[in-house]
Order: sequence, then C-alpha cells, then structure tokens
Amino acid sequence: MKQKETLLNTMEINVVRASIEELGEDHVGTSLETPLREDAFEMDDDLKIELIEKHFREIMHIMGLDLSDDSLKGTPHRVAKMYVKEVFSGLNPKNKPAAKLFENKYKYNEMLVEKDITFHSHCEHHFVPIYGKAHVAYISNGNVIGLSKINRIVQYFAKRPQVQERLTMQIGNELKEALGTEDVAVILDAYHMCVSSRGVNDTNSSTVTAFYSGKFERDEQSRNEFMKYIQLEK
Ligand SMILES: [Zn+2]
Repeated sequence: MKQKETLLNTMEINVVRASIEELGEDHVGTSLETPLREDAFEMDDDLKIELIEKHFREIMHIMGLDLSDDSLKGTPHRVAKMYVKEVFSGLNPKNKPAAKLFENKYKYNEMLVEKDITFHSHCEHHFVPIYGKAHVAYISNGNVIGLSKINRIVQYFAKRPQVQERLTMQIGNELKEALGTEDVAVILDAYHMCVSSRGVNDTNSSTVTAFYSGKFERDEQSRNEFMKYIQLEK
C-alpha cells in the first residue's frame, strides 16, 4: 500500500465511522456475526472439498470449458481445496487461534501499536479478493499477547467471505476479548477487487474502516496518538 493512502487524518476516519453507523440495519451483510447456518460444520472438510469440486466442475462445464484439457482438469479440486483449507478456513471455529495472555512484567501500560499487517480476504458479494493492511492498537491492562497472535487473529477473520465493516468489527471484538480490555483500536485500509477489476474499474481507491473502543472511543488524544504511529515512515 502506498504511504500516502495511509495518511489519514482524524476527520476522514470520523467520516468513515459515521458512514458505518449510518448503514444500520438496512445494509445487507453488516451484522457482526458471519451469517452461518446451524449445521455449517456437520460435514467434514474432505466431504466439503469433494462436493465443492463437483459443483465447480459443473460451473466450468456450463461456461463451455473443456475439462479434459490437461491445464483445466485439476482446477475444480484445486479451487475446492483452496476454499476449504485456505481462503475460507476462518469460517470454522476450530481454526480460531488460541490467544494466550502473558503478564506484562515491565509494567508497560502505554499504547501498543502493530501496523501494516497484510491481510487477504474475499468480498462476500462477488467472491473476489479484498486485500490491504490492518493497523491495530491496544492499551494493556497488565496483560499482553504475543505479537504474532494479533496477526493470526486478523488472518483468521480475513479468511472468510467478508464485508470490510464486519471484518473490522470482528477483529476489534476478538482483541477486546483476548486482551481483557476495552481499549482497542483497529483500522483497515483495503482494496476491493470487485471495484478495481470489474464494475467501475477504479484501480486507485481504497476503503478505510475503523473500530474504536474504550479509551480510543472516548479520548481524541488516544486516537490521534494511534494515527501518528501509523503515519510513521516505513
Ligand atoms: Zn464485492
């Protein structure tokens, strides 16, 4: 992501926050929970791969592709395996990273920021990639988690069909729970392939969403400090 696109001021962020709130109940796909059926995991992964493979082969066949071609014949299986084991593996709660807390022995109770976490997700309306950077901050209540755990939490929720607003909130809420603190902030700055490679074909615009809780919600100074850190030169 180019540096200038992450140079956000608080005003822009507030605009984005307001627009998320305005989406309200009318906007399809903005519920906090990923809409999953009760029986979502009654089938095991192997059966899911087998069935998706069958249906994907059918889609390719309907489009007129010759599935006996050497280059194409493995595609239905590859796609099915990629869906279940990789890009949508975050649907299954058994893949959720366990977050182990450590006591913060050096009593660091300032803001901790992890910025430029690369993530890849998929738009649930078109099933094409959403990709970008996540910036996360929290203020420790005496406990910390390993930094790689923050990356894993971001990746886990990204590996679902998503809308960016929900992804932002799911990461924020999970961090609150894992860290046992309300003082959490998350900013996602992402490109949507459904905007850049089709539709309006806009290759430059990125979408910014923010989640502020606790001190970050109450206190403009904390938000500004977070902004200052994520604007630092790389
Ligand atoms: Zn889309």
